[in-house]
Amino acid sequence: MVKVRFVNLEAQLTLIKDVIISKITSFLESGYYIFGPELNNFEKSVAEYCESKFAIGVGNGTDALFLSLKALGIGNGDEVITVPNSFIATAGAISATGAKPVFIDVKDDFTMNPNLIEQAITEKTKAIIPVHLTGKICDMDPILEIAKKHNLFVIEDAAQSIGSKYKGKKSGSFGDFGCFSLHPLKNLNCFGDGGFITTNNEELYNKLLLLRNHGLINRDECVLWGYNSRLDSLQAAILSIKISDLDKTKERINYIVNKYKSGLKNHVEIPSHEDYDDIFYHTFIIKTDKRNELKKYLLEKGIETSIHYPIPIHLQEAARELRYRKGDFPIVEKQAETILSLPLYPELTNEQIDLIIKEISSFNFY
Ligand SMILES: *Cc1c(COP(=O)(O)O)cnc(C)c1O
Repeated sequence: MVKVRFVNLEAQLTLIKDVIISKITSFLESGYYIFGPELNNFEKSVAEYCESKFAIGVGNGTDALFLSLKALGIGNGDEVITVPNSFIATAGAISATGAKPVFIDVKDDFTMNPNLIEQAITEKTKAIIPVHLTGKICDMDPILEIAKKHNLFVIEDAAQSIGSKYKGKKSGSFGDFGCFSLHPLKNLNCFGDGGFITTNNEELYNKLLLLRNHGLINRDECVLWGYNSRLDSLQAAILSIKISDLDKTKERINYIVNKYKSGLKNHVEIPSHEDYDDIFYHTFIIKTDKRNELKKYLLEKGIETSIHYPIPIHLQEAARELRYRKGDFPIVEKQAETILSLPLYPELTNEQIDLIIKEISSFNFY
């Protein structure tokens, strides 16, 4: 019998169902289904939350990456440096523009290793996409310094890191763009697909407004070839409710993370962080050489777990044309065999947290 599910979105709904339903009702009666006040309102509050000047709602997190690349003029013949241990969308968005994803290895904490960037730069390199995996922000100081030195753009894949801080600054506020997902599994989520982009650059902001809406400057005049990738106003209306709970969610997630860390540190490798990190965890990933055995053991005890991600992107069938081989990124490859994600959502009960810690502690690692 399952005692702890890896995902439990219905539990989240229960707490806010009435407010959401009355919001949906008034939205339906408003007649503004595309753009309109609800979208403006959400963009304003999420920009404020992310401590960025502008936020632009888009169709999803993948589009956020794709449109950011397009806004910077990146495409055929260009190269973009990123990591192979992300959700497939990071590399997929680069490929969709016609540019080539160039991978570098990561550090123990799953984030891009800045020491490996310079050797990956060629004349074709246009941008770096650091991925703030698990919610932990990449080491941005050296990344920004290298980008500046080589005249490269920086697009943060912040899909997992809303609300996290590095040296006092929020994720998505470091690069030219911060790309966020509002997918149901993210910490700020909607009931379907959604995403947004943050930027402090007004010119790039205006470019994105055009790109997400067919390049139209008004109903009839089009100044560039664009796309249809807007954040649904219905989702925006709901998100305006959810965003006000985000700090509370972060507090609860931190509570769970601290419980996990102190309960598990003698049994498995727990996530590491620096003094200057203030992480809003998206996933809690432990490492053990007995990963597969532990995963099976926990499932027998009724605890679901997951793996983010079991197949590194450079070893995916889709990436064959990039001509990478097994052994190219030893840290990512080793992590893919030892990582295990534990359930992490605010509705986990204290009993469930204790159960997870108890069962992992009683597993025989030898
Ligand atoms: C979720 C995610 C994306 C894609 O977001 P979608 O909204 O699903 O398109 C991109 N990058 C990372 C790291 C993600 O976790």
